[in-house]
Amino acid sequence: METKQKTINLVTGGAGFLGSHLIDKLMNAGEEVICLDNYFTGRKENVSQWIGNPKFELIRHDVTLPIQLEVDRIWHLACPASPVHYQFNPIKTAKTSFLGTYNMLGLARRVGARILLASTSEVYGDPEVHPQPESYKGSVNTIGIRSCYDEGKRIAETLCFDYQRMHGTEIRVMRIFNTYGPRMLPNDGRVISNFIVQALQNKPLTIYGNGSQTRSFCYVDDLINGMIKLMNGNTIGPINIGNPREFTIKELGNLVKNKINSNLKFIEKELPSDDPLQRKPVIEKAQKLLNWEPKITLEEGLDKTINWFKENLY
Ligand code: NAD
Ligand code: UDP
Repeated sequence: METKQKTINLVTGGAGFLGSHLIDKLMNAGEEVICLDNYFTGRKENVSQWIGNPKFELIRHDVTLPIQLEVDRIWHLACPASPVHYQFNPIKTAKTSFLGTYNMLGLARRVGARILLASTSEVYGDPEVHPQPESYKGSVNTIGIRSCYDEGKRIAETLCFDYQRMHGTEIRVMRIFNTYGPRMLPNDGRVISNFIVQALQNKPLTIYGNGSQTRSFCYVDDLINGMIKLMNGNTIGPINIGNPREFTIKELGNLVKNKINSNLKFIEKELPSDDPLQRKPVIEKAQKLLNWEPKITLEEGLDKTINWFKENLY
């Protein structure tokens, strides 16, 4: 007779980019996984390799509505992440962040599950402190086009900590910095997928503004390792998980061009409002408390991502 209690994982947003990579890791480790998604930006193809496996279940559901499930761990990732998608219906994005997190915290409390929130570096807004440690409280516009997402994630973090203080709910809050890799949607609008798709289609690369704004890009495998360490460890966060190597968008564009076609040109487009000028995580907490740091360089990660797009772009 089996005596060890099985862990049942609920991954909200599991059919999306990060969620599907997390599911691959959990399934490969032999765990039970329930993938919950409304397919707004996720695709069934991302998890199709697990359909039919008795340890895997797929539920079409919207996290803005409550759901009753018996689970031990909730990985709460459901929320569109790319500006194009979260600005498509900003009121829905705010509802997904607030009501979705509220519903998942309610579920965690009811069944005594541990819950990890996929928060974001966007809680720092357009930061006046550089690089950004977790203690920085942020500079966020409450009424701009990014606010539905930024403020949504900020209230989601607040809800987590209030559930922890009021009900003793076991929370983990992860602040994810720009992450990239295979399974990003080609029309996702994020800079790495845009540049790779444009370069593979021999089109000029679209630079918003003059390209001097910076970001720090983490390869998806590194990010998922950090997420799993956070869930399994004793640190509740908030904790930055990202790659601290910082690039201007122009430098990123040149890297992509040099890997695919160095003759391609840049075209400048208007910088969207509230676009943060700089972003780079301080990862000392993750290094000390989780023994985590990224291992994959942008050059290596870009090669893997470009190869995936070459095979999957049609
Ligand atoms: P994604 O858009 O690929 O995945 C989000 C998933 O959530 C999709 O499968 C989508 O269909 C699903 N979803 C959206 N609204 C839902 C709803 N109301 N109910 C149920 N499912 C819903 O994005 P991603 O890059 O995989 O991001 C996953 C999480 O990580 C998000 O919460 C995002 O805010 C966070 N994050 C990602 C990044 C990044 O660089 N990728 C950075 C910071 C934070
Ligand atoms: N960006 C760009 N060209 C594109 C897409 C994005 O220059 O085709 C810029 C964008 O203005 C931002 C940065 O790249 O300054 C990162 O954008 P992304 O949407 O990937 O992430 P976020 O702004 O949420 O960090």
